[in-house]
Amino acid sequence: MADAKSKIIDGKAVAAELRETVAQEVTRLTEHHNLVPGLAVVLVGEDPASQVYVRNKVRQTEAAGMKSFHFDRPPSISQDELLELIDTLNADEQVHGILVQLPLPAHIDEGAVIEAISPDKDVDGFHAINSGRLLNGNARALVACTPRGCIDLAKKALGSDLSGKHAVVVGRSNIVGKPVSILLLQENCTVTIAHSRTQDLAAVCRTADILVAAVGRPEFIQGDWIKPGCTVIDVGINRIERGGQSRLVGDVDFDAAIQHAAAVTPVPGGVGPMTIACLLRNTVIAACNINGLQSQIK
Ligand code: NAP
Repeated sequence: MADAKSKIIDGKAVAAELRETVAQEVTRLTEHHNLVPGLAVVLVGEDPASQVYVRNKVRQTEAAGMKSFHFDRPPSISQDELLELIDTLNADEQVHGILVQLPLPAHIDEGAVIEAISPDKDVDGFHAINSGRLLNGNARALVACTPRGCIDLAKKALGSDLSGKHAVVVGRSNIVGKPVSILLLQENCTVTIAHSRTQDLAAVCRTADILVAAVGRPEFIQGDWIKPGCTVIDVGINRIERGGQSRLVGDVDFDAAIQHAAAVTPVPGGVGPMTIACLLRNTVIAACNINGLQSQIK
């Protein structure tokens, strides 16, 4: 029987490989097409967690050889001023990806801001046009980063062919549950989407060859809900207090899951690191699409 450590899907390592592939593609585009992909990140306000996310995005963008444009705006910015900035970035030929860090202050309509971003520069993949393109299987879709990272991790564990696997996705949010379900369907999985009204969730989970947990409840999925041999992708990020210390846990009871599953993503160090790497990949794909070039990364 495999030891517990060999069952852990190392998201940090998979993300590092992807960043390296992105950097190589950036070099090719720069040298052969004089095209340097550029990512603009807009941060409104001073939320410390958002500041950390944005710093990491800027650092990793530059490390991949891309141009990074960073806009800090005060929390008092009006919605019209923010929309004007997005218009300017939509028109800027050096900018191929636009990311507005969420959440935004309450006086700004997040939906209106997302819809104002050109769909071809929407590297977060949240624009309704990109959701529609994903649903239609349109190759021009920019796919939301966390769901896309889940597929990369499942393939790391199971190989590139996920055909015929039964995937159970717990959660149906627009940013994780729904898009990851569509991506699994495109990989020819048979997909069940479970949610808060699902009856006998434990029994549904026990039918999964691939179990994706995107619930937002700490250690909610129990070990005996997992079929032996299942691959578990834990999207959850929950901060809890345990033994007087603050720590991050996923939506899956990791210590119990690893006794049953063939492979499990840890939290932290699983899905989380994939998100920025997928953002960099989307920026390269957007730069290629906008310039009529074929990207050599998929
Ligand atoms: P969300 O919008 O709150 O959606 C949670 C989903 O879980 C809903 O569809 C909900 O069902 C379902 N749910 C809640 N309680 C349930 C229960 N008792 N039984 C079955 N289903 C239940 O959350 P989200 O934005 O998708 O995020 C999910 C988790 O992923 C969070 O921990 C979040 O922090 C994390 N996350 C991580 C990353 C990353 O980079 N790793 C990115 C995004 C999110 P209903 O629809 O019926 O209410």
